[in-house]
Amino acid sequence: MASTIDALPIARRWYQECRTLHKTCKRSPKSAIPTRLIDISGNEPCLRLADELGSEVEYATLSHCWGSLKFTRLTKSTFESFRKRIPPEALTKTFKNAIFIAQYFGFRFLWIDSLFILQDSMEDWSKESTLMSEVYGECDLNIAATSAKDGSEGCFFPRERSWRCQVSPTSQTEQIYDCYPYSTLEPYVDRLSKRAWVLQERCLSQRTVHFANNQLYWECCGIVASEIYPNGYPLSIARDKFLYQKRQLSRSSWPKLVEMYSGGLTTMSSDRLVAIGGLARVIYSKSQDEYIAGFWKKGLEGQLLWQSHGLNRRIDPYSAPTWSWASLQGGVSFHDWHKNENALSRMCTFRVHDIQMQYVSDNPFGQVRTGILRLRCSHLASGVIQRGPLFVSIGNYDFNIGRHIAHDFHISFDCIEEEERGGEDEEETWFIHVHVLPIWTDNSAGLLLRPTGRKRGHYERIGAYHTSELSTPAIEDANLVALEWDHHFAEVSSDSNGNKEYFIDLV
Ligand SMILES: [Zn+2]
Repeated sequence: MASTIDALPIARRWYQECRTLHKTCKRSPKSAIPTRLIDISGNEPCLRLADELGSEVEYATLSHCWGSLKFTRLTKSTFESFRKRIPPEALTKTFKNAIFIAQYFGFRFLWIDSLFILQDSMEDWSKESTLMSEVYGECDLNIAATSAKDGSEGCFFPRERSWRCQVSPTSQTEQIYDCYPYSTLEPYVDRLSKRAWVLQERCLSQRTVHFANNQLYWECCGIVASEIYPNGYPLSIARDKFLYQKRQLSRSSWPKLVEMYSGGLTTMSSDRLVAIGGLARVIYSKSQDEYIAGFWKKGLEGQLLWQSHGLNRRIDPYSAPTWSWASLQGGVSFHDWHKNENALSRMCTFRVHDIQMQYVSDNPFGQVRTGILRLRCSHLASGVIQRGPLFVSIGNYDFNIGRHIAHDFHISFDCIEEEERGGEDEEETWFIHVHVLPIWTDNSAGLLLRPTGRKRGHYERIGAYHTSELSTPAIEDANLVALEWDHHFAEVSSDSNGNKEYFIDLV
């Protein structure tokens, strides 16, 4: 039976060409090496400590899904014996395959999280897990066990010999076409991407080789390639749709990263922000813009207009404030992220006046305890959303505001339970009271809020809307600021000219 292992020579060629030919993949000397590495040069692998090694050690890393498989891990009691020899019961099939691959590529050292972080020490875990972004960022090759649901499946998979073929459509021409299934353009990453940390490992490492169940894939700054396109994907194929073209991380890559990250996650885990914190830290080091619970301070107003994909749930236990995408379990996308920041200041109906963040540790890229955004608003309207006559066909709503009705009101609810959204029965009358905070002065998009009831002027986000039908007179008609209904606001004060200012708190 043929196997994906047959393609190792191609993967080694990708690696060698990247090291020798790709100018974009040249790196400055390493700034750090991991605290511990596994030495795979001898007959049996063993643990080595950083101070036993030089500063220019070349090493590979492994991206893998732990799954529920039981195996011996590095603990305080196994530490000393691991230094002499890592026993076979600590090596899953995936680890053994990764050692074989690393040796085949010529590496003497490999890094695997479960063998290098003391699994029974919270202190070691919190120290080493914040260094993980450096471990992957400085590695020479990241080996991704992309299709293995746990350590028992390994990196290699059997496959048919005839998974691609050549055909000649007519007998009159000599033209021959290569044929392959469309699905083989991308690795099946669903299993691996369910682990929150994987995106960070994939984006920070300089080179990734994916060991998928159908073939091998390559990602570096120079090319993305696969066995079908071993010299790189042609321009006619939208490469970013199938593989991740590595590039310098910057603030402008953030919405794409969050979309990739949130789209793969399905668990109720509160480490939502922790596992992307390493990427945020790298971007922060270049931009010096302040990072706030999954967003950037500059132009924060416009970033708040993210949209949830379909039915979502709020993570419990608490993972982030409701205004952050990290409070939800599943995928989000960003609307208008790229509106330029000068335009933003002219077009936005509110300002972030104050930000109060509390973190679980002293790491501002880590887990959040609470987060309050105090907004200075010029428009905050209250109204009633109900299903409109067009709902059945295109799923949009009516918004009753003052004496007006805006039809064509498109809503993405964050996590409202189905019965609260009116359930499946589209004939049933259904309505919900909301506060609307338009983001843009033309009212075309904004946030749906609801008072928490816990404190005056405290609101939680329940969704986002966009519409072409919400007129300025309609908003003005129900504008709580213009009506001076002060009890809807957390604070009402006067500016230096004596004009009243209205504040709400998003929590
Ligand atoms: Zn390269």
